[in-house]
Amino acid sequence: MKNILLIYTGGTIGMQQESNNSLSPFNFDSILTAFPELKNCGVKLNHLSTKKSIDSSDMQSGNWIEIAKMIEENYSAYDSFIILHGTDTMSYTASALSFMLDGLNKAVILTGSQIPIGARRTDAKENLITAIEIAASDKISEVCIYFEDKLFRGNRTVKVNSEHFEAFESPHFPALAVVGINIKYNAYRLRSRDEKQLSISEKMDTDIVILKLFPGITEKVIHAIINSSQNIILESYGSGNSSSNKDFISILKTAIESGKIIVNCSQCLRGSVKQGQYESSSELEKIGVISAMDMTTETAITKLMYLKGKALETEDIKSKFKLSLRGEISN
Ligand code: ASP
Repeated sequence: MKNILLIYTGGTIGMQQESNNSLSPFNFDSILTAFPELKNCGVKLNHLSTKKSIDSSDMQSGNWIEIAKMIEENYSAYDSFIILHGTDTMSYTASALSFMLDGLNKAVILTGSQIPIGARRTDAKENLITAIEIAASDKISEVCIYFEDKLFRGNRTVKVNSEHFEAFESPHFPALAVVGINIKYNAYRLRSRDEKQLSISEKMDTDIVILKLFPGITEKVIHAIINSSQNIILESYGSGNSSSNKDFISILKTAIESGKIIVNCSQCLRGSVKQGQYESSSELEKIGVISAMDMTTETAITKLMYLKGKALETEDIKSKFKLSLRGEISN
């Protein structure tokens, strides 16, 4: 029988309704009470909770470190791990953990729900029970999100819907498994086992800003955002295009020359950044803006936090950022 550790962090799945009708995180007992079948689900299931059960909109890098440490401390005792998490920042946590858990060769599957587990029409039971079945399958050795019939590589996901049960998409990478009557794994896409020992990164550098372009953005705002951090994610248009205005390019150029890192992510959900495809992005390439290619903004942010946390030289960070470290970018 497989040994699985369930880590409860909070989120809608375990929430209860307050007197003012709002939902707030409750403890893990609420899950066991609402879903007693968990005790007999064909695997040996133990559970731990993080220090505080939170709405995932309160997630910080310290919470990721807490979860990573819980996995590290229990790594040899379990075959795989399930993390119960709110949906709002699940893609950020999955991306962050994929980098922080170096040498991972077991499944770490995040799941949650859109409706609390105690409610009649909940999606939590199906999500949780299938996540357990996948975690017990021995097929997965990476950080994933399982949600509404699909298993995704965690660092490829984006939350796209706050209303429907299909809350997540993986816009640049196919699902690792699709669930119907049978679970169909996409064997060719699964990450192969890493023979390294697990080691975790306990430092994430959160000094990052996002500069989201929009027609009419003022120079004052651009200056203020760029001056506020060493690491800038530029959310550009389409295939990585920005204004070709000389003053704008010169602000970015000066920032890069002073040692700042600027990464180009697209505001589009699908398609890749291709600097140089249009004249409006060829200047970005020339001045040393780094293309995030088909990485999501969630992944670009957490990858930069991870690499900066390692205190590497700027040039080393830039070259590592362009590589696929955990399958987060298409080659
Ligand atoms: N606000 C909730 C959270 O992210 C939403 C959810 O779990 O679906 O914790």
